Amino acid sequence: MRMSRTYVPVLRETPSDAEIVSHQLMLRAGLIRQTAAGIYAWLPLGLRVLQKIGDVVRAEQERAGAAEMLMPTIQAADLWRESGRYDAYGPEMLRIKDRHDRDMLYGPTNEEMITQLFMSETKSYRDLPKTLYHIQWKFRDERRPRFGIMRGREFLMKDAYSFDLDEDGMRASYQAQFRAYLRTFAALGLKAVPVRAPSGPIGGDMSHEFHVLADTGESAIFYDAELENISIEDPDAVEKLSATYAMEEEEHAKVTDCPVPAERLLKRRGIEVGHIFAFGTKYTEAMGFSVQGRDGATVHPLMGSYGVGVSRLMGAIVEACHDDDGIVWPEQVAPYRAGLINLRQGDEACDAMCETLYGQMRDAGVETLYDDRDERGGSKFACMDVIGLPWQVIVGPRGVKTGVVEVKNRRTGEKAELSPEDALAKVL
Ligand code: ATP
Ligand code: MG
Ligand code: MG
Ligand code: MG
Repeated sequence: MRMSRTYVPVLRETPSDAEIVSHQLMLRAGLIRQTAAGIYAWLPLGLRVLQKIGDVVRAEQERAGAAEMLMPTIQAADLWRESGRYDAYGPEMLRIKDRHDRDMLYGPTNEEMITQLFMSETKSYRDLPKTLYHIQWKFRDERRPRFGIMRGREFLMKDAYSFDLDEDGMRASYQAQFRAYLRTFAALGLKAVPVRAPSGPIGGDMSHEFHVLADTGESAIFYDAELENISIEDPDAVEKLSATYAMEEEEHAKVTDCPVPAERLLKRRGIEVGHIFAFGTKYTEAMGFSVQGRDGATVHPLMGSYGVGVSRLMGAIVEACHDDDGIVWPEQVAPYRAGLINLRQGDEACDAMCETLYGQMRDAGVETLYDDRDERGGSKFACMDVIGLPWQVIVGPRGVKTGVVEVKNRRTGEKAELSPEDALAKVL
């Protein structure tokens, strides 16, 4: 993509109304713009990152055997009356009326809808277990939207729903999602701490939140330092992590005899990027969903639901991956792999070398953002640093004379003068 064609409104100054670094940098790098309180437009670079985060989430969901679908954002209130949540949900639910004066709502979550969709065609134990998911916009009328997309009112969530015949099945589905979450956050270059959350009707250890550690996180968590020694590669990682003490402050405060010795108890701030929850027959009972069991008797399937804040993750990644000059994207989610900087736009030799390189990079499959604008070199450097693509290929009049370009690694700052061929090989 050519910078002259796309829309990347990079800001030189830090916006004064943005409190935390991820919000500041997402605005400065031209990823997002607010259109109303807590509602954001995703500009071209921001959308590319959002899609790539979605792709990582998707790959791990598929690996865990969850099948993707897509449910609508707008739901009928009657559906929520069946579960009793229409009144219970409170002011976070955006309630809408259609032209026939029917009550509708913008979905904050989808337990009711998935249950309705799934129950109408599912009659037998042979149809279970199943886990279905979608990645869809949600709306929650947050009392205090803040920190940019971190706590938006409209936000993108992956939500998966599992249906099982019995409690062992539900536990297995829950653990499969737990594992998928560990893999997902690791693939995004993040360290997420699974924290035991209040688990409602089922009790036990069937609800966890996943928190990415960050000083700007809204939650305070307490956990056993031993947790940091558990590798997600360990085949028993889920069991070991579930058995290791980790609680949000409010829950920790209720614990009278904390099993962790004081010197091993860590207190950190975290960003809740995921939440998994097994709640059994709560919705299937309320909505009258039963299937024929193996022995002929009918049973209400047991459910779990599993959320990931796809848009919030972008904020968490920027909190974790930046330096004084801007964002430093992990490769998997960078909007482009490389930035090509033409230091003398309009100079015949520089333009020619850039055009050739740009074509070669594209043909080699290197996603490239070519800064072909008529701007000063200094401002192009600053702009590319803020945007934070993993590689920069810099073409200037001096190098063109001797047939070299400069390649810079954004993360390490390491620079090398290379022939165009070697530069291409370097950024592959
Ligand atoms: P929070 O405690 O931050 O309000 P939640 O517990 O209400 O989140 P869940 O219902 O568990 O949220 O939703 C699943 C995931 O969706 C959360 O773990 C979080 O990553 C994301 N999420 C929830 N609310 C928002 C929001 N307002 N903006 C962005 N992401 C959100
Ligand atoms: Mg909330
Ligand atoms: Mg929460
Ligand atoms: Mg939650």
